[in-house]
Amino acid sequence: MLVATFPVGTLQCNCSIIACPETKEAAVIDPGGDPDEIVNLCKEHGLNVKYLLHTHAHFDHILGSRAVKEKTGAKICLHKGDQWLYDNLAMQCGLFGMKSDTPLPVDNYLNDEEELQIGKLKTKILHTPGHTPGSTCFSLNEHLFAGDTLFKQSIGRTDLWGGSFDEIIASIKNKLFKLDDSTEVIPGHGENTTIWSEKKKNPFVS
Ligand SMILES: [Zn+2]
Ligand SMILES: [Zn+2]
Repeated sequence: MLVATFPVGTLQCNCSIIACPETKEAAVIDPGGDPDEIVNLCKEHGLNVKYLLHTHAHFDHILGSRAVKEKTGAKICLHKGDQWLYDNLAMQCGLFGMKSDTPLPVDNYLNDEEELQIGKLKTKILHTPGHTPGSTCFSLNEHLFAGDTLFKQSIGRTDLWGGSFDEIIASIKNKLFKLDDSTEVIPGHGENTTIWSEKKKNPFVS
């Protein structure tokens, strides 16, 4: 499996590219900005981008989606619980003094516990509400793409639109902490961690 993670956009959202080495089918997780960089990296590796997977619809995770879709034809995927945030991209950006293009329609809704096939890889969708109602994590082999639900020794904000502290704690404890302790967590911002390390050291949930 090929995996690349790099920060994009003004809020340095971690964007990841996951790809099946045999078929070259790929998915981009959280194309939050710098669409040219994302598309060029996919081209360099000869990847056929099938899905744009969004952990949630805060603007810093979806700002590059339109441009990446226009250049790759990939399907825009989001949990239905965040449709209203997605539709209000311009309002979100306005609060940060930024402008945005109108987002393209969502192609596929992400459903809890479903698996998505990317070439010969399978990624499992985990609906983890709390940071936003439609927050979703993606589990792929020994990796977890956690969006803004779980950070290294921290958790996502719950004081924004539709956030819930009780829900994010339940999502982390009941879903993410059920994964293997050795799972590498790739959060939406900042450094990687592991499930084991967060169980021991995260002050919000340990
Ligand atoms: Zn967020
Ligand atoms: Zn974020």
